[in-house]
Amino acid sequence: MTRPLGFLAVVWPANAILLGLFVTWPELARRSGWLSALLGYLLAGNLSGDPLATNLWLTAANLGGVACAWLGFQLLDEEDRRLRRPMSMLRFFLICVSAATGAALIGCGLAPGLLDRSVLTGLVYWFTAELINYTILLPVLLTMDLETIRGLPDPLRRPWKEVVRHLAPLASLCASVAAAIVVGGPGAIAFSVPALLWCSMTYRLFPMSVIMLAFSVVMLQAQGSGFMVTSDHYDFLDGTASFRVGIAVLVLGPLTVTNIMTLQRVLFDKLERAATLDSLTGILGRHAFLSRSRAVLDSLSGDHGFALLMIDIDHFKQINDRYGHQAGDVVIRAVTAAIAGELRKADLFGRLGGEEFAVTLDATDPLAAEALAERVRRAVEDLRIDIDRDAPLAVTISIGLTHHRRPPAKGLSQSLGMADAALYRAKAEGRNRVCSRLAEAL
Ligand code: GH3
Ligand code: MG
Ligand code: MG
Repeated sequence: MTRPLGFLAVVWPANAILLGLFVTWPELARRSGWLSALLGYLLAGNLSGDPLATNLWLTAANLGGVACAWLGFQLLDEEDRRLRRPMSMLRFFLICVSAATGAALIGCGLAPGLLDRSVLTGLVYWFTAELINYTILLPVLLTMDLETIRGLPDPLRRPWKEVVRHLAPLASLCASVAAAIVVGGPGAIAFSVPALLWCSMTYRLFPMSVIMLAFSVVMLQAQGSGFMVTSDHYDFLDGTASFRVGIAVLVLGPLTVTNIMTLQRVLFDKLERAATLDSLTGILGRHAFLSRSRAVLDSLSGDHGFALLMIDIDHFKQINDRYGHQAGDVVIRAVTAAIAGELRKADLFGRLGGEEFAVTLDATDPLAAEALAERVRRAVEDLRIDIDRDAPLAVTISIGLTHHRRPPAKGLSQSLGMADAALYRAKAEGRNRVCSRLAEAL
C-alpha cells in the first residue's frame, strides 16, 4: 500500500518486516516460509500492475536482499540478533549494508526501463532506500519484547513531576526536529544529536527503537517534501540518497548508547547485589548489615528503642561432620528462611559469617524484642530439614539479645559486644534459648 500503482515505493517496509519475522521466529524461515514470501511478493506485484517480467525481477531483488541479511544474521548469536550488546549495532549495520547491496545489485538493472534513469543511479537509489528501511524498521522488530510492553507501569498513575521528567528528553527531541526543519542547511541532520543522546540515556531499547523510527520518518518526510532545504548543490535524487545514508548511520549512535546504558544498569545491579547480599542465603552480608545497623542506631530518636539479636546455630560442626558440608549449607539456608519468616520488612537481618546471624530491630519495648527472639528460636526448633531420608533433621539456635533506649556510648560495637556476651551465656546455660543483656539493667 506504500507503493503507488505502476511505480516503485519510497517507503517499502515489506523486506524489513519479512526479515524481522524470520529472525524473531526462526521456525518461520523454513522452505515453506520462503515460498510463502515469494508468492506474497508476486501477488503484491501483480496487484500493483507489474508486467510478469518486472514482477519477477523486483521479487528477486526483494528476496535476494532479505536472503543476504538472513545469512548475515545466522553468524550472530541470540544476544546480538536482539541488538543487546554495545557492538551489536555495528554488526547489524554491516548486515543491513550487505542486504541493501544485494538487493540493489539485482534491482538496478530495472532502472533504465522502469525509472528512465541510468543503472548507476538505480544502484544508488535502490541501495539507499533499502538501507534506510532496514536500519530504521528492523530494530523495532528485533527488540520488541511483549513482556516489557505488558509490564509497563501506567504513566498516568505516577506522580506528574516524574512523568514530566521522564518525557522531557522526548520533548527536547521534538523541539530539535522542529528547529532542524525550520533552520535547514547541511548541518540540520545533526541538530537532534544532543536530544537523541538524552533520550538514549533515559529510555530502554525497544521504546528507543520506536523513537528512532519516528525521528527518521519525520526527517525523511521533511526532506522529501522540500520543507528542509539541505543543500543547493545537489539535485533532488542525490540529495535524497545522501540524506538517507545520513539518517541510516545516525540511528546507530543513540541505539548503541542505549545498549551501553542498559548493560551498565545490569552490571551495577549485579555489583550492588554482590556487595550487599550474602551469596549463600541472599540476606545481608556482614559489611552491609553492620553499616546499615550503624545508620539505624545513629538515627535513634525519641522513644524509639533498638534491639540487636546475635544468633548462632547449636552444634553446627556436628552436622557438617556427619552429613557433609553441602548438607550444612542446606541447613544454613533453611534456618535463614525460618528466621526471616518471623521478621518484619523493616528489620535488618544479616549473616555475620559461618552459622552466625544477627538481627537489628526498631523496638520500643525490650519485652517485645524478647518475645520476638523467642518466636525466632521456636520457629527454628520446629523446623524439620529434609537431609536424612529416614529422619528429617532438627536443629536449634541460641540467641543473645540486647536492647537500648538511646545509642550506647561506644556505638554499635558496644551493642554487638553485649549481644555476644548474652549469646555466650545462652550457650553456657545449655543452648536452644534466649539470653538478654539489657542496657537498662546495667
Ligand atoms: P556451638 O553450639 O557452640 O555453636 O557449636 P558449633 O559446632 O556450632 O560451633 P563452631 O563455631 O565450633 O562451629 C561452626 C562450624 O561452622 C565450623 C565450620 O566448619 C562451619 N561453617 C562455617 N561456615 C560454613 C559454611 O558456610 N557452610 C558450612 N556448611 N559450614 C560452615
Ligand atoms: Mg554454632
Ligand atoms: Mg559459631
